[in-house]
Amino acid sequence: MESMSSSAVRETSPERRPQFWQVARRCCQIAGSIDVAFFFLFHLLGSPILAWVNVVSVAMYVAAYHALGRRRNRLAVGLIWTEVLVHAGLGTVLIGWESGFHYYLLMFIPALFVSASLRGAVIALLVLWGYYVGLDVLMWTIEPLQPVTPGALLAVHLFNLSVVFAMFSYLSFFYLSMVTSASRKLRQLATTDPLTGLLNRRHMTDLAEKELARFCRTGRPAGVILLDVDHFKSINDQFGHDVGDKVLLGITEVLLAQLRKQDQIARWGGEEYLALLPEADIGIARESAERIRAALRNYDWRKATGLDLTVTISAGVSEFGPGEDLRATITRADRALYRAKAEGRNRVAMGGVVPELAGSDS
Ligand code: GH3
Ligand code: MG
Ligand code: MG
Repeated sequence: MESMSSSAVRETSPERRPQFWQVARRCCQIAGSIDVAFFFLFHLLGSPILAWVNVVSVAMYVAAYHALGRRRNRLAVGLIWTEVLVHAGLGTVLIGWESGFHYYLLMFIPALFVSASLRGAVIALLVLWGYYVGLDVLMWTIEPLQPVTPGALLAVHLFNLSVVFAMFSYLSFFYLSMVTSASRKLRQLATTDPLTGLLNRRHMTDLAEKELARFCRTGRPAGVILLDVDHFKSINDQFGHDVGDKVLLGITEVLLAQLRKQDQIARWGGEEYLALLPEADIGIARESAERIRAALRNYDWRKATGLDLTVTISAGVSEFGPGEDLRATITRADRALYRAKAEGRNRVAMGGVVPELAGSDS
């Protein structure tokens, strides 16, 4: 529980929400411009006090805008809070609850949960609620101190309502895009391998299960290639882990270039890859694996790693079999791979019903 709440706090700390502060900056620009408009509006309506309040407001938004630019977020938040609380309070007390100045206070509610820690947000929310309700109750008991004509009051009311609508829409759109991009990132983290960008083992298993179900229903074949880098440990040992990683990326590039668009490729383990080839039988899987082996022979490792390496792979291929589950299909490919290694590596072995060795350079 403790770690959950502290991670929630960390997650919502200002540094983790750079986009929020950009939006806050944009809001300062918008709010400052609106206050310039208010300056003229209140002069026209014969309310000089409120007109000059807007000059102070504009100055505060300019200061908050620059503070955000220098990443002094706390100062900016303090300025914005003070401006909105005082402005909403003054506007309401001077010309009445119907002016709609209090609506601006509501815009803090979603923003609080994005910008502050959970505890801070709850405290600020309670303060805000107290202020809002206090203002409401106050206006039930007193008359506005500087009332304007009903027509002017309606104009101010409609203006405030429209601005709050527009700003809420803008903020909601921002919150939505933030959630969408976070869930996209999460999905990517859950389904792909961070080094190569290929599918991870779990996601590949899900996709292969679906393909197998299709095979059972329609008889549409699918081939499997299980591929392992030969003597990869010695590449790591000789040239370092970074070169090893570059080799994995080079092999990824070859796999993506040699397999079809509809084929699914996963990083199955450390230096092991699994490819699933829909609408391909074991023969096509073998041809594809041979193509990969040949492409690796011609691959420019100097360009990829700065070293003249020779990298070979061994592969075992199989295809979905009637009445067989996914594990059995992959086990047949795995056994074939084992045989390819045992036979001297750098070759493709068939994990069909009748095992047979195919293609070798050595
Ligand atoms: P074989 O031909 O029999 O497959 O021999 P091998 O050396 O390729 O196989 P082994 O299983 O002995 O070694 C695999 C090595 O792969 C060991 C491990 O440190 C390395 N490895 C696993 N994941 C990564 C990775 O992400 N990056 C790097 N650079 N190396 C990795
Ligand atoms: Mg290996
Ligand atoms: Mg291995």
